[in-house]
Amino acid sequence: MEKAFVNLIYLVASILFIVGLKLLSHPKTALRGNYAGAVGMLLAVIGVFFEKGALDLPLIAVGILIGTGIGAYIALKVEMTGMPQMVALLNGLGGLASFLVGGDSLMEEVAKNSPYLSNLQFTISTAATGIIGAVTLTGSLVAFGKLQGLMPEKSVRYFGDQIVKVLFFVGSIALGYFSVMHPTAIEYYWYIVIVASILGVLLVMPIGGADMPVVIALLNSYSGIAASATGFVLNNNVLIIAGSLVGASGIILTQIMCKAMNRSLPNVLFGGLGAATTSKGEEDIYSGKIRSTSAEEVAMLLDMAQRVVIVPGYGMAVAQAQHAVRDLYNQLTDRGIEVEFAIHPVAGRMPGHMNVLLAEADIPYDKMKEMDEINSSFEQVDVVIVNGANDVVNPLAKTDPTSPIAGMPILDVDKAKTIIVIKRSLSPGFAGVPNPLFIQENALMYFQDGKKATQEIVTALKDT
Ligand code: NDP
Repeated sequence: MEKAFVNLIYLVASILFIVGLKLLSHPKTALRGNYAGAVGMLLAVIGVFFEKGALDLPLIAVGILIGTGIGAYIALKVEMTGMPQMVALLNGLGGLASFLVGGDSLMEEVAKNSPYLSNLQFTISTAATGIIGAVTLTGSLVAFGKLQGLMPEKSVRYFGDQIVKVLFFVGSIALGYFSVMHPTAIEYYWYIVIVASILGVLLVMPIGGADMPVVIALLNSYSGIAASATGFVLNNNVLIIAGSLVGASGIILTQIMCKAMNRSLPNVLFGGLGAATTSKGEEDIYSGKIRSTSAEEVAMLLDMAQRVVIVPGYGMAVAQAQHAVRDLYNQLTDRGIEVEFAIHPVAGRMPGHMNVLLAEADIPYDKMKEMDEINSSFEQVDVVIVNGANDVVNPLAKTDPTSPIAGMPILDVDKAKTIIVIKRSLSPGFAGVPNPLFIQENALMYFQDGKKATQEIVTALKDT
């Protein structure tokens, strides 16, 4: 009876995870999706208490309180632009938890059943937990360090690095095999963890630049697979299901991001983007060709426009300009001007970054257009306002096959009648390459912070 009750709790928790994921797929329902997932997780934890029976509840309560406190503090403190680092860290902790639980379960089983430990499901999944969990931990820590600026973000390559990676990969699999063959020799498990930890570092060090988000999505998937393997170690259905959902959604996200950047996964993992930039320096391409503009001139152009598209980018997030952008949107629509937002799938620093910011400022969802939806109509746009975006509108992606962003689909803003680019300087974007859009004949540069510039345009529009 009790077993059936626990399984029922796990079933409801699993359904809530699946429903939560479904709801997360649209900004309108995303908040409810988050709640569904959180309630599912609470139920899963309660289920574990019922399943395990007599536990040291005060000790667990202290653990939960400390964990909740740290989690809430980090989540409240993190800037939206720092989300990828936070996700990387959380993925890493998932990997750490998985291989620690795997190791602990192995030690417990050995103490109980040694020398007869022949359950293959247990031994294989424990070895898998050690390998995948350790790769996830150290790979995620390197990704965190790179994105947080604690270590060079560029790709780090050296002669023969691919062979070294293969050797460590084969080494960890071989140790996994020995561990399955000799499960009571616990030291093999910890050898696996050491070798796989080095492999995690080796795998992520050569990745840099705009490929980092893809790697974080991939590590997210790994953390799910590690959790799922731990579910097999513990014979815990809800952990197997939750881990599989994370593993699958992480790999789907990885694929979507690769597609958005026109890169294959092997190319991301072994290509070494960001190792060196071969593009010309800033001065070469910009000198004497930049046309600056002012709020008054932009207001005049907007006043005459019928169709305006706003392209948000990472700089809009840094400037926290979304509410000012909403004011501008209101001003323009009040004048009968059609205004839409063009959202590139990798604009900002995380998938959905721009949608979240614009939704926070109550921009109607139907005005946020995906790249594929809006790209063919830029020729009919009178004014495009690029607010803090750079790489996602960089025509080099189409014209320079040596550029690190070569082949990445971009928003075709260059086809619009007039382009206003709001940014503070001529600094490059995330990929570190200059942007020939800025010297195009129909482009005007408005050098200012994204929020301040938008506020100035709103004020100037009122006087027009
Ligand atoms: P970019 O990083 O290419 O460019 C951002 C621009 O914003 C910079 O050129 C910067 O110029 C400007 N900027 C910074 N602060 C401000 C400010 N306060 N006000 C105005 N402008 C500002 O951004 P994009 O969104 O175009 O492209 C995203 C890039 O990030 C892509 O290369 C993508 O691959 C990568 N990436 C994407 C992730 C995702 O999942 N979305 C995750 C991680 C990386 P200046 O300093 O002159 O102001």
